[in-house]
Amino acid sequence: MAEFTMTKDADGVAVITWDLPGKSMNVLTLQGIEELSALTEEALGDDTVKGIVITSGKDTFAGGMDLNILAEFKQSGAEGVFEGTMRGHKMLRTLELAGMDPKTKKGGKPVAAALPGTALGIGLELPLACHRIFAAPNPKAKIGLPEIQVGIFPGMGGTTRLVRKLGVMSASPFLLQAKMSSPEQAVKAGIIDEVADDPVAAAKAWVLQATEADLVKPWDAKGYKVPGGAPYHPAGFQTFVGANAMIMGNTWGAFPAPKAMLSAVYEGLMVPFDTALKIEARWFTKVIMDPSSSAMIRSLFINKEALEKGAVRPDVPDQKVRKVGVLGAGMMGAGIALVSAQAGIEVVLIDQKQEAADKGKAYTESYLDAGIAKRKTTPEKKDEVLSRITATTDYNALADADLIIEAVFEDVGVKAEVTKNVEAVIPDDCIFATNTSTLPITELAKASKRPEHFIGIHFFSPVEKMLLVEIIKGAETGDVATAKALDYVRQIRKTPIVVNDARFFYANRCIIPYINEGVRMVTEGVEMPLVDNAARLLGFPVGPLQLTDETSIDLGVKIAKATKAAMGNAYDDTTDEIMFWMADNGRLGRKAKAGFFDYDEKGKRQGYSDAVQEKFPAKSDQPDVTEVQHRLMMAQVLEAVRALEENVLMDIREGDVGAILGWGFAPWSGGPFSWLDMLGAAKAVEICDHLTETCGERFTCPALLRDMATKGETFYGRFGAKAKAA
Ligand code: NAD
Repeated sequence: MAEFTMTKDADGVAVITWDLPGKSMNVLTLQGIEELSALTEEALGDDTVKGIVITSGKDTFAGGMDLNILAEFKQSGAEGVFEGTMRGHKMLRTLELAGMDPKTKKGGKPVAAALPGTALGIGLELPLACHRIFAAPNPKAKIGLPEIQVGIFPGMGGTTRLVRKLGVMSASPFLLQAKMSSPEQAVKAGIIDEVADDPVAAAKAWVLQATEADLVKPWDAKGYKVPGGAPYHPAGFQTFVGANAMIMGNTWGAFPAPKAMLSAVYEGLMVPFDTALKIEARWFTKVIMDPSSSAMIRSLFINKEALEKGAVRPDVPDQKVRKVGVLGAGMMGAGIALVSAQAGIEVVLIDQKQEAADKGKAYTESYLDAGIAKRKTTPEKKDEVLSRITATTDYNALADADLIIEAVFEDVGVKAEVTKNVEAVIPDDCIFATNTSTLPITELAKASKRPEHFIGIHFFSPVEKMLLVEIIKGAETGDVATAKALDYVRQIRKTPIVVNDARFFYANRCIIPYINEGVRMVTEGVEMPLVDNAARLLGFPVGPLQLTDETSIDLGVKIAKATKAAMGNAYDDTTDEIMFWMADNGRLGRKAKAGFFDYDEKGKRQGYSDAVQEKFPAKSDQPDVTEVQHRLMMAQVLEAVRALEENVLMDIREGDVGAILGWGFAPWSGGPFSWLDMLGAAKAVEICDHLTETCGERFTCPALLRDMATKGETFYGRFGAKAKAA
């Protein structure tokens, strides 16, 4: 079945409609490119056609390129990617020049795009090649170029055209930060031309009255100057100095795509438009051939979406949540109530005292008030969301709940009592979930009369911001409970991973050694900036010392004490001295305005603390940055491998997606398993063996990794098929 079809109306307007069969949203496929090219040629060559309108048969225009085919595309090698990209450019350039005489720019046919809704990626690059863009005033519509988020950049002329249309400065939020706009905002920004109730009718009317001058793009007209100045203009030069610094400041050079995009823009602006497209295609090819883009697309797009759609969901009927009881209205409970109510779920928010429950509900109120001030929500919506939350101390309000999420103090006794009290009132089929961050689910389930309905739903803080939810199955957790947790996470639009029960589950199991390794290096006399900056250069959003300050030193001390109690002699106490000293001296992190950093009155970081440095002096001989990086990286990825070996992690996709969304694991790498695959198992073993010798047994290479090195395997090679079949 065709992806693009064409009809001709009585006025001689050819309407090309994009309607990818079997999909709710259009994505561009290789077949689609061929079909659109053929229809464009046909319409331009048909004397009875006066102009072309390109629209969609769906309520959105398009979601972008079919990212699944990019991997396929890559199989053809750099030359194949470049040629394929140039074919796309040729198609859009043919549309843009629309049959006009190359010299006089006369004789072309008008081409307009009519967008019924969302237009993303190639779904916007195609309209940008048309002569005028109309969009419906669809409140759900998002207009933008999100490519940078999956490690690529707009490579179908979007980069070159947007920069020439808006200027470097104005285009940069859309290209570098993937800023999304409503149709109205997109008109204001100059990305599209008009909002029209019936965009197809408006586009047809425009096509019929367009003049020849209307069809010539500014960059194809004589005397064109890029808004804000080209790179060799003093103003333009300044922009590039700033943009370069901004990109390096944000990415620390770890992400290939932003740098490549800036090069495409810079070099492209010094040459004529068609050469600029060729330059864009070269840089695009380089980014596509970089293993980072495939890994990012795999984890942040394909696998993230697969997990959200239930790739690991047991085959039981729909478990959509109607009413959730949230126990404990503290920091986590308040956030859980907020995201649940926003998803249309009835919430009973319970605490020991009415004031505490009310305070928890007030969190939603102030969050929504801030949203109103930023025009992200309305007073009506706020009332609606708030009306779904009942703040109370009365457990009887849980009588018809179908899911409970317990977020009371991290204490086995308190949690056990709450479990018993709640189970006395809830229906038999209600699922009981705990948000514990450290206590084993199987242990907590001992307080339950029905451990098959008992599960862990582990949120990350702040709940409303963090995208990952870790679902933990206890030894007796049943399929219905797992499906319930997954369906709930889907309702609140977050990404789930499902893991088996073990100390610290998956995310914290990897984060804690990362933090400890950083802190341990300070005790060894490694300069604090070297520790954090080594992590930033790997693409981590914050270094381990800064992360410790953010999460608080006392939390670290609490976890250390609990771990020591549980592990006994096996506990490694190397970081206790510094952590306990900091806690005893009130250096509890950002909240105390003192930690590894000093802070000003307002809590703004000032620099690494002299007090800490005095107590733990830096040695004169500092390690190489790569050595520091290997320690920080291996501390995390070896835990991920061990979690897989121990069947805590059941699917490497979850390990990769969970790491990026849960603790910001170097997103350019695609996650710990993707990173190890890029590095190669043999090299990883070599690093492990070296670190075991120089730093200790904690870097002992897991048997699985050693086996893979011997066999020349990769994680996705060895476990990828299972992941696909799941
Ligand atoms: P918190 O201290 O802010 O809130 C706990 C709330 O539970 C308090 O309001 C308290 O009054 C209430 N509470 C205590 N006993 C109760 C009872 N018997 N009945 C009803 N309410 C009771 O703690 P928090 O940071 O929100 O953490 C709650 C849980 O979430 C803990 O298990 C914690 O380990 C887990 N968790 C915390 C984080 C985090 O970053 N803070 C992240 C993930 C998970």
